[in-house]
Formats: sequence, structure tokens, C-alpha cells
Amino acid sequence: MRYKSVEVQAPAKVNLQLSVGPKEADGYHQVVTVFQAVSLMDVLKISESDQFAISIKGDYTTGVPLDQSNLVFKAVQLMSEKFDTSTKLDVEINKSIPVAGGMAGGSADAAATLLGIDQLYGLGLTKDELGEVARNLGSDVPFMLHGGTAVGRGHGDEITPALSRGTYHWVIAVSSSGLSTPAVYGECDRLRTGLDIKAPSLNDELLQSLLSGDSVRVGKSLNNDLQAAACSLRPALRLILDTGNEYGALGGIVSGSGPSVAFLVADEDHSLDLAVALTSSGVVGSVARAQGPVPGAKVISVN
Ligand code: ATP
Repeated sequence: MRYKSVEVQAPAKVNLQLSVGPKEADGYHQVVTVFQAVSLMDVLKISESDQFAISIKGDYTTGVPLDQSNLVFKAVQLMSEKFDTSTKLDVEINKSIPVAGGMAGGSADAAATLLGIDQLYGLGLTKDELGEVARNLGSDVPFMLHGGTAVGRGHGDEITPALSRGTYHWVIAVSSSGLSTPAVYGECDRLRTGLDIKAPSLNDELLQSLLSGDSVRVGKSLNNDLQAAACSLRPALRLILDTGNEYGALGGIVSGSGPSVAFLVADEDHSLDLAVALTSSGVVGSVARAQGPVPGAKVISVN
């Protein structure tokens, strides 16, 4: 069945662990990461049109390109090359995921576009087939299709589901300007000069904690090898981490390559308390609250 228009939502992610190996000959790093999809959602409305166009509205619009460098455009292009679908699409992005915040907003939009086009043209692609296309668009895109809690290996794009019990409450400190992922990896390499860096490895204690649904243990197990680099480039992040911990967070972590900082808290009440404390501390640009895990990209309406 074909449709004229489809609405798709896709979640942000938080990395509960990000283990980064040494820089390889191709300039990339092998990673092992534990992703959790959280309830900050971009919603994309994709409609047939007479030309390609992207528009944006919502909480975060600054810094999102509306030209061919938008990952949505690349996703449209790739689907057209592989499955002969039209590139004449109008895509309206309603953005609730902070931009360049280490929460994979661009990847979420790319994943939503793949799923939306699959639905629009009734292609009936399986999750695995969409996942293969997703890998060509960026390391985080396969997880944004998958959602939930999962381990990412390789460049973060080889996804296996992780068992997790319960709901986790997050307070996210959002910075007003982003950090570039390549710059943070570059700083990480610089800080590691002369050190013997091992292959990345999975934190078993974190996986056990997720399995038992014990958020106190999960909070203590959060770890991100890029955190020191992000803090080195943006020293204010240390202050934000200290403030969150002082106000009773179970754990705090720079999300991905930053600069968003995600704090795990015990429950909904604590999340409100911490959001108020961070806002009034003056060290944070804005604060968002989210819960996880949530499903990956999902079609919410068709027309
Ligand atoms: P990641 O966590 O995957 O490293 P991020 O959350 O740090 O990503 P994004 O919000 O995905 O960062 O944006 C990174 C850059 O990608 C932006 O600064 C912007 O120039 C570009 N970009 C391209 N397409 C999009 C999109 N649809 N939404 C947001 N940014 C996009």
C-alpha cells in the first residue's frame, strides 16, 4: 500500500558506557558502547511533493542545515539509489532533540526518514534490511532504528539488544552550543599520547545492573572514555557534573561526545527537583527531562 504522507518519530540516545579503543590507521576508533533510547523525540512528516525540501520547527532549530548536508537528504538519496523511490519529498522536522549535543539527533532523523520512506512506498523492508542501509548513513543510525537498550560494537553500528529491567529517569543539561564529534575524538587522542590504550571492552557490572533494574548500581557504573576530552574542550562541563552530583543524582555522564550531560535520578520526583536545581544554579543553558528505554523509530500516522 502507498501513502501520500507519513509521520515518524525517533528518539534521542544516551550512552551509558562508551569505551573507546586506540586510533586506527584509517583515523577511526573501535568502540564498545551501551546505548539507551530516551523519550526526547524528533517527529518527521514526510510527504510526496514536486521537489525536495526540508523545513524545521520545534525546541531546537539553530544549527540544523536545510541543504544537502542534512542527514535526512542523504537518507532520501540513498533510498532512491537502492529502491528507486522518489527524491521529491517534503520533510518537516519537529525537533525536540538538542542539536550537536551527543544525543544523535541527526541520526534519529535519518532513521526516521528510512522508515518513513519504507512506509510511504510500501517497500516492506525488514529491520535488518533497513539496518544495512542505516549503517551507510552513520554509526548511530542503526541504533536509532532499533531503540531500547543495546550494545554497539565496531563503530557503534553493530547492534545487539541488552536485557534491561525497569524505567530510568534522566535529567539532561543541554548546552547552548555544540561540540563537534571529530574534535572530541581528536582531543581524546591528544590526552592519550604516550599511553598504551587497550581494545574497547564491555562493562559487565553495568549490564548486570541493567538486568537487575537497580538504578543506584547503574548510576555508579556509568562511564564514558570521551568525558575527559569533552571536559578539556569545555571546562564548564565539570562544574555541571559536580552540580548534578551535589544535588543527589545517582550518576552523571557526558552523553557521547557531549556537550549534553545526562544525570540518572531515582524517580520522577527527583527528576523535577534536579531540573529545578540545575536551572537555578545558572551553570546550565537549559534542562530537559526524559525516560528510557523507549522504542526506536516508529511510524505514528499515515495518510
Ligand atoms: P552524535 O551523538 O551522533 O555524534 P550529535 O547529537 O552530537 O550527534 P547532531 O544533533 O546529530 O549531533 O548534529 C551534528 C551536526 O550534524 C549538526 O551540527 C548539523 O550540522 C548536522 N546535521 C545534519 N543533519 C542534521 C539533522 N537532521 N539534525 C541535526 N543536525 C544535523
